[in-house]
Amino acid sequence: MSLTMGTPKPFALWRHLNKLRWLSLSIVFAMLVALPFIHVYQTYTAAHAYDLLAPAEKQLYDVMETLTAAFTDDPAEDLDAIKGNTWSGSFFGLQLSDPLAVAGQMAAGLKLYAPFLLTALIPVLFTLVLGRFFCGWICPATFLYELNTNVSTWLARLGFKVGNRRFDLRLKYAVLGVGLLLSAATGSVLMAAIYPPAIVGRELYYAIALGGFGAGAAFFVGTLLFDTLVARRGFCRYLCPGGALYSLLGRYRLLRIRRIVENCNDCAKCNAVCEFGLDPLRDHFGQECNNCTACIAVCPTQAMTFVLRPTDFPKQGPGHLGKQYRRAHPDQGAH
Ligand code: SF4
Ligand code: SF4
Repeated sequence: MSLTMGTPKPFALWRHLNKLRWLSLSIVFAMLVALPFIHVYQTYTAAHAYDLLAPAEKQLYDVMETLTAAFTDDPAEDLDAIKGNTWSGSFFGLQLSDPLAVAGQMAAGLKLYAPFLLTALIPVLFTLVLGRFFCGWICPATFLYELNTNVSTWLARLGFKVGNRRFDLRLKYAVLGVGLLLSAATGSVLMAAIYPPAIVGRELYYAIALGGFGAGAAFFVGTLLFDTLVARRGFCRYLCPGGALYSLLGRYRLLRIRRIVENCNDCAKCNAVCEFGLDPLRDHFGQECNNCTACIAVCPTQAMTFVLRPTDFPKQGPGHLGKQYRRAHPDQGAH
């Protein structure tokens, strides 16, 4: 009997989710670039002083006026609909915050502030269902980190030595714990200084609205170098306090990926593509998996799919289309 007869096939569209994810990352990043321009334009319109603007400022005003004219007659008021960044902001009246921002603020203030706590409710609920999805689908730093991985891959092909060291994944939980303790001790949310998405949002604003970079830009470049020279996607895997918090919240996420062992040929492409260094080839996704779907997209035999269950599928051994399994089960025949 053919090994593939009667084996499940995943929903065909799952393969295309990785493209949708890139669209999502691009939109978030584009919004973080657009918002400082909008803010500057709002300032100009509120001042009613077009004639006093410098030529470059007038140019910006004119471009922004052209771009936004179709959407608003009152830019100073209407363009306030989206404010802030992924650390904390407002989206058409809905206040949203990164759970790390709320946890850090509570630690720094040593008390619960319910209105701010509630701003993390929607991200937390999404994380309970989708796991560390923020890291794969929203984080503006991921947009840059994944491009950086592509650059590192090119460098490796050209013969440059790129880092691929592995450390203990639990390091980031220590960073989170120490960060919260230090926030409590100092009364300030120190983790915002080393949290890549907060840095990217802040530094884009500084660069566009204020014409310069802060110290965070240097730190972020350091994380890119760390990823290239020491450990692929190293900061997110081993050091990011937000990644740690999302992983903890997403430990028992309801939507997770499962390998269909009957379809798997053990090619290991899923492991190779996994930015977080997980082992989907042997059914280990764990709390670190961000449901990015890169492993689904790359799998040549449609052996990856989504399931609704709060824990990983138990280890299933070699793929049934792989050499190892077929040698051990010659009676089952090849398809
Ligand atoms: S196991 Fe798959 S979905 Fe999870 S992080 Fe790795 S590539 Fe992404
Ligand atoms: S067939 Fe798919 S699930 Fe199996 S090792 Fe290859 S990429 Fe991974």
